[in-house]
Amino acid sequence: MTPISLYNTLTNRVEPLDPVHPGEIRMYTCGPTVYAFAHIGNFRTFVFQDVLRRFLHSQGYRVLQVMNVTDVDDRIIQAAGAAGVGIREYAEKYLQAFLGDLAALHIQTPEELVRATDHIEDMVALIEKLQQKGLTYTSDGSIYFRIAGFAGYGKLSKIDLAGIQPGARVDVDQYEKQDARDFALWKAPKPGEPFWETRIGPGRPGWHVECSAMAMKYLGETLDIHTGGVDLAFPHHENEIAQSEAATGKPFVRHWLHAEHLIIDGQKMSKSLGNFYTLRDLFAKGQKPSTVRFLLLSVPYRRQLNFTEDGLTQAKNSVERLRNFLARLKAPKFAAGTNPEVQKRIEKAERDFDAGLADDINTAVALAATFDLVRDINTAMDREALLQQDALRAVAAMEKFDGILAVLADDDDATLRELGIGSAQPRLDAAQVETLIEERNAAKRRRDFPRADAIRQQLADSGILLEDAKDGSVRWKYK
Ligand code: AMP
Ligand code: ZN
Repeated sequence: MTPISLYNTLTNRVEPLDPVHPGEIRMYTCGPTVYAFAHIGNFRTFVFQDVLRRFLHSQGYRVLQVMNVTDVDDRIIQAAGAAGVGIREYAEKYLQAFLGDLAALHIQTPEELVRATDHIEDMVALIEKLQQKGLTYTSDGSIYFRIAGFAGYGKLSKIDLAGIQPGARVDVDQYEKQDARDFALWKAPKPGEPFWETRIGPGRPGWHVECSAMAMKYLGETLDIHTGGVDLAFPHHENEIAQSEAATGKPFVRHWLHAEHLIIDGQKMSKSLGNFYTLRDLFAKGQKPSTVRFLLLSVPYRRQLNFTEDGLTQAKNSVERLRNFLARLKAPKFAAGTNPEVQKRIEKAERDFDAGLADDINTAVALAATFDLVRDINTAMDREALLQQDALRAVAAMEKFDGILAVLADDDDATLRELGIGSAQPRLDAAQVETLIEERNAAKRRRDFPRADAIRQQLADSGILLEDAKDGSVRWKYK
């Protein structure tokens, strides 16, 4: 086991990983709110967490990871209402999509992937505990946590509490509070909204209490690692600490890890800027899952990741380089024997790879170790200095690295087909699309509607959307 150090947002220091239960890591990850498809920024954070868990595994730790799925909140209630379905049904669609996206990016499913609405009782019990300690108050049927009752508030984000004036908006909920910093543990039902009838009254849980209740239920009162994107440190994680530590009197989390954001071409990703992408958007544009995974993991998690077209091209080339290298090593053409120099070179690469990740999951160092080895072994092969045992050893090293990188398997097309996402079909170019549209117009003119529909379907299967304008013309775009 290489000793592992991780940066801790709580202490602002890189610290040795020190698990509560020796040999085991209990880790909580804030998961998605399933009201829409997750965006690629979200997957930057989820891929980081996957690299972390895979590395911990590779070092011999047992990993118990819990991820929540927020399947009740304002946005879900609104969207489900607009779609005319229940929140559970609405959320299910996006939960399934999320699972598909995780699989496409080779993100391992956490040991416990838990839905908020399956844990209402646990949240109620936690709120009751806080009530008994006099840390809550009720206003208009909603229950609030009184921040003034918890001395450690602000220790994670180092937020300047004096700057937050009563009445300021620091939270998305719209209820009356005694103090702007207070947050809702339990929200009274509004007309027409779903709610649960419970011992603490009718209503639904606030977002923060979900994570505290589910984390402690599965992982105990003190977790080893809690992860999320930087935007969650305040107020979400600050509030998780307040609720959990006020209830148990124990430290909630030993190591807080926050991933910096992904930005696009130097700008914040946002729908209004037109630079907002889901994974499916990228796949439909012809990007491969392995390319996206490689790009997302290539920048160490504490650095902002600038997502660009150029970056995608480089990531694609890098994955191809690794796959070609492995294929070359597996070609049966090496003379029998072992070259001690080569063996030493491989061992050094393995040490450097692990040392990079052990140093606060520095993926850039781990990748440099990988590609330096590829270069040196390629040179050795060119000089015919690589012998059969060396080739086997190099294959083993690459497979070990890929236990964490997870990009070597050439399964991109199969993955997309299996998941039914993106355009696993060969992509049609503009001329082919125009020809098919002309054929469809001709079919319509001779009133052969089944043929016209079949062509529309063929285009749809290839990721092409048609729009029939009123004047009879047809516009098209890639989905
Ligand atoms: P959400 O569904 O908004 O709660 O986000 C799920 C996860 O993605 C959280 O850990 C967020 O902090 C993280 N996240 C949101 N936006 C970005 C971004 N642009 N880059 C990286 N992570 C993000
Ligand atoms: Zn959370």
